[in-house]
Amino acid sequence: ASLTFNEAPFAESYDVGEELGSGQFAVVYKVTSRKTGEKFAAKFIKKRRYATSRRGVPRAHIEREVEVLKAVGGHENVIQIIDVFETGNDVILVLELVSGGELFDHVCAREHLDEAEACAFIKQILNGIRHLHTNYVVHLDIKPENLMLRKKGETQLKLIDFGLSRHIYPGTPVKDMIGTPEFVAPEVVNYEPLSPATDMWALGVVTYILLSGVSPFLGRNRDETFCNITSVNYHFSPTYFGTTSQLAKDFIGRLFVKDSHSRATVDDCLNHPWVRGPRAGGPSDLRLNSTINVAKIHGFKVRMRWRKAVEVIQHCRQITRRAREELKLATSRGYTLESRYNKDDLITSAVLIACEEGNLA
Ligand code: ATP
Repeated sequence: ASLTFNEAPFAESYDVGEELGSGQFAVVYKVTSRKTGEKFAAKFIKKRRYATSRRGVPRAHIEREVEVLKAVGGHENVIQIIDVFETGNDVILVLELVSGGELFDHVCAREHLDEAEACAFIKQILNGIRHLHTNYVVHLDIKPENLMLRKKGETQLKLIDFGLSRHIYPGTPVKDMIGTPEFVAPEVVNYEPLSPATDMWALGVVTYILLSGVSPFLGRNRDETFCNITSVNYHFSPTYFGTTSQLAKDFIGRLFVKDSHSRATVDDCLNHPWVRGPRAGGPSDLRLNSTINVAKIHGFKVRMRWRKAVEVIQHCRQITRRAREELKLATSRGYTLESRYNKDDLITSAVLIACEEGNLA
């Protein structure tokens, strides 16, 4: 049976403020409870109107996001869901507000970061992931954009965006080609069963980037990236890992393991000496000597923004090509376009659709 959500008018309970961010089919606003004055984030998710449409999110997927959020809320490193509303066009998730921005932006703004500090963030991500995996939830979209800090000036980290997450129970295989190419594990590329280990691979990619500012498997195009992933083709180039400790590289190496059964689990990671740190009375913390080049992380952010723009342009090109082909087909079948439309208008509207889908309109 499908879930039912609060259909009372949202505006009766909340005042909508500034936009906080957006995704493919969702916009997130800062909102204030009219009753208590408390601030929250409201994620307006556009519902898919028709089964055949490519726009909007199917209701079943939105329900899955809500179910997962309800199952994992209440942990200090996981975003908490408060309430869910529904209108004709949207489902609105009221979420705990995180206001400290993305982890990587916080890191870029620092003058200096050592491995012990980087590790403290990784540990929080691991604690959040451990909570998910204990509840048989796999996030499936662990990446820098989904790691946010709860408050400005504080270091408490929250996992957000459970749009791809799902329950995966042992013995019930789930396959899906989802996620962000750079961060997906070999089993995703090969359409083999997903598991908690799929998140662990992604954490390996995040750790690699956090320590070096470069992405381990990124190729010139998606196929090349996928090929690098399935052949586990990565290196610790001295240019980027010159100051990185051996322990950190060992930690990453245990996550970049093709066989998901042999990959380090979240508990293995929490027990890894790089994460655990030196034992009391043992040798001093070597991680303090390994500095991270913050400028390189900044470079990663800049490159990522460029890549996004390029992706939108490629998407526009694809849609334009499709519009041209459909136009050719229609003309060849003897249809004539109404005189108020011309070829250029059609192409312009295709580009606009592409921009809207890519959130650049
Ligand atoms: P995508 O299409 O990238 O997967 P999405 O549509 O699933 O995204 P989210 O990633 O959940 O949407 O949210 C989009 C953006 O809104 C986030 O990147 C973040 O900047 C902001 N955001 C989301 N949740 C919150 C929150 N609880 N508090 C503050 N900002 C948030």
